[in-house]
Amino acid sequence: MDNEGTRQKLVVTGGAGYIGSVCTARLLEAGHEVTVVDDLSTGHRDAVPDDARFIEGDAAEVASTLLADGFDGVLHFAAKSLVGESMQDPSGYWHGNVLTSLRLLDAMRANGTPKLVFSSTAATYGEPKETPIAESAPAEPTNTYGATKLAIDHAITSYARAHGLAAVSLRYFNVAGAYGRYGERHTTETHLIPIVLQVATGDRAQVQIYGDDYPTPDGTAVRDYIHVVDLADAHLLALANAAAGEHTIYNLGNGTGFSVRQVIDACREVTGHEIPAVVAQRRAGDPAVLVASSERAQAELGWKPERADLTGIVADAWKFAQR
Ligand code: UDP
Repeated sequence: MDNEGTRQKLVVTGGAGYIGSVCTARLLEAGHEVTVVDDLSTGHRDAVPDDARFIEGDAAEVASTLLADGFDGVLHFAAKSLVGESMQDPSGYWHGNVLTSLRLLDAMRANGTPKLVFSSTAATYGEPKETPIAESAPAEPTNTYGATKLAIDHAITSYARAHGLAAVSLRYFNVAGAYGRYGERHTTETHLIPIVLQVATGDRAQVQIYGDDYPTPDGTAVRDYIHVVDLADAHLLALANAAAGEHTIYNLGNGTGFSVRQVIDACREVTGHEIPAVVAQRRAGDPAVLVASSERAQAELGWKPERADLTGIVADAWKFAQR
């Protein structure tokens, strides 16, 4: 097993995106050598940290030749990740997520790349039967996005068993916050915190609360918000702990839920803006409560969220939104 201090030569797919760019920055700070591959379909060239090498292109296509240079591992972030879009355009998600990942796995196998850290999602679980959600919970995704990520998880398990790949899937809950110049800026923004902050910056008149009749204390949906830097740091630990022939799955969240109203209140407190909010219809496919148990990551990776405070998460996102 490598220790965390060993310098590794890594490929980060999707390193021009929100989570991929923060993770690249943290990998570089830890002394690793990083090549980012991103087709810039949703990412931004200026989000790629300066010390990373950058190759513009499709992850699977680039990997088939790039990996021949000899890499220690791949962190695979590149994906389509909008639930609503995945229901309208399943083909784009099955091809863009599953097929690309299979081709990447084959390229890794052909070139003997030993390690993979994969961005999975809480959406693989679907409507939870128990809260908080542990990795042993049934995986029954309710949308195409979650189904494609689950299919990739299954593929990774079989490649690990059959070909000795050392693999870790990290199932993200609600990632938020920013890391200096690296933050969330999607052309089509669907995530709650950046949307609420757009009201505070004057880019949006009001926020819509998607449903206030959920079986939760204030009637609005509850989610587990995790700081993107805590999330990124779990990737470094996953890389250090990945074992040949094994595929391990870890949930990443803080284990505490906040309602939509609580998030809006935190944004009001941080920004000093009144942030008008109106109640709208529920969004299709939204479960009432999604909260992670990340006990496995804490016990096996030694991971511990250091930035769990919601106000702090929002404050970092707010600094980024004002740039
Ligand atoms: N949400 C909302 N208004 C918005 C965006 C999101 O009320 O403009 C709600 C959404 O229904 C969910 C929560 O905020 O209950 C978090 O949504 P987000 O899209 O950020 O993450 P998700 O949990 O869907 O991955």
